[in-house]
Amino acid sequence: MKLNNFSLPSSILPTHLNELREEVRSFLASELGNGSYHRDAAGWDRYDPEFSLKIAKQGWIGMTWPKQYGGKEKSFLERYVVAEELLSAGAPVRAHWLADRQIGPLLLSVGTEDQKIKYLPKIAAGECFFCVGLSEPDSGSDLSSIRTKAIKVDGGWNIQGSKLWTSYAHMAHMINLFARTSPATETNRHFGVTQFLVNLQTPGITIKPIVNLATDHDFNEVIFDDVFVSDHAIIGKLNGAWGQVTGELAHERSGSERWLNAYGLLIDLIDSLGPNVSDQDAEKIGHLIAHIWTLHRMSFSISWMLEKGESPDVEAAIVKDLGTHFDQKVPLIARQIFSERKKAYLDTGNSIHKTLKRAQLYSPSHTIRGGTQEILRGIIARGLGLR
Ligand SMILES: Cc1cc2nc3c(=O)[nH]c(=O)nc-3n(C[C@H](O)[C@H](O)[C@H](O)COP(=O)(O)OP(=O)(O)OC[C@H]3O[C@@H](n4cnc5c(N)ncnc54)[C@H](O)[C@@H]3O)c2cc1C
Repeated sequence: MKLNNFSLPSSILPTHLNELREEVRSFLASELGNGSYHRDAAGWDRYDPEFSLKIAKQGWIGMTWPKQYGGKEKSFLERYVVAEELLSAGAPVRAHWLADRQIGPLLLSVGTEDQKIKYLPKIAAGECFFCVGLSEPDSGSDLSSIRTKAIKVDGGWNIQGSKLWTSYAHMAHMINLFARTSPATETNRHFGVTQFLVNLQTPGITIKPIVNLATDHDFNEVIFDDVFVSDHAIIGKLNGAWGQVTGELAHERSGSERWLNAYGLLIDLIDSLGPNVSDQDAEKIGHLIAHIWTLHRMSFSISWMLEKGESPDVEAAIVKDLGTHFDQKVPLIARQIFSERKKAYLDTGNSIHKTLKRAQLYSPSHTIRGGTQEILRGIIARGLGLR
């Protein structure tokens, strides 16, 4: 498919990837069997440092990174297959996910040699987890309006401000902090922002919990009050982090985690309907399966493009937009089906009750996090030359 700047080449899975897929499946079956993890309504979105250590021992964190930094020099396609299997099995991979997905690639691309040596092997070993400090109380979609400031002092920077909606800051070791280091210029409002590597144990940092709609504590407010970081904490360009952040967001948006949030619910739905499904329900399920298969093909195609060194930003935005709407559609369809079969749904022994409840409560967040649907559609329109 080709349209101006948009391209999603169709691709055939090389056979060695099927072997890798089987390897991941058999590892997960054995871990499930020995009780090191269980399937849960939260699916893969669970923070389990011990399980992350096991994933690291398999060589599945930092898979594409150079060996000298703890990586395995595998292809993006191999990483894609491993990620898809872990997520669809509901393995609790949240602890290392962000560092593996975007901090590693960011440091490899613009980090100093010291930063690469210090952080990448620890991330690959499943011993260093990151959170991301972009959003603020009055700044989310429009990140250039951030007010958290880093002021130059002797030997480093003094940070003042606060970050909001910082997922898992209370459990991570480090934050990738986005702060203003210089005023924007009249012609470039994206100038003057810088990324910093900040240890969350640094004096002056307070992490306040925010409980979400589902009564879980995953978000936080992170307050920086006279926090000192050295000059070595700067990631990439001083005042020039805008391009780095947008590149990082492309990594954040392109993966299968954007359309595998409701996969556990889809499986529970199919299981609970059993083999004697009505034509009407079969049509609904068939529609969802066709949709998820298409997302799988699109997402895999993006991995091919990453493998070839391309930057599929527009394509990633399209997958995220379609994927997050799919994640919202699954609970909607499940509710439609079960509203017609109230008795089965209300049966207390039925695990789908829990899975559906969680999927429903988390559903609104999918089209907000990682860029709202309006922002993504703006990126798509610009990328296609329509704006
Ligand atoms: C589950 C979850 C996890 C998150 N985790 C993190 C995290 O770890 N770290 C972090 O930094 N942030 C995180 N966020 C915050 C998230 O990135 C922001 O909520 C998001 O970018 C939107 O910003 P906002 O909430 O300030 O809304 P706003 O930017 O105020 O937007 C409000 C509404 O206006 C619309 N809008 C805004 N600008 C435009 C425009 N130019 N054109 C059209 N419509 C527009 C938006 O689409 C939205 O509907 C998380 C959010 C969620 C839901």
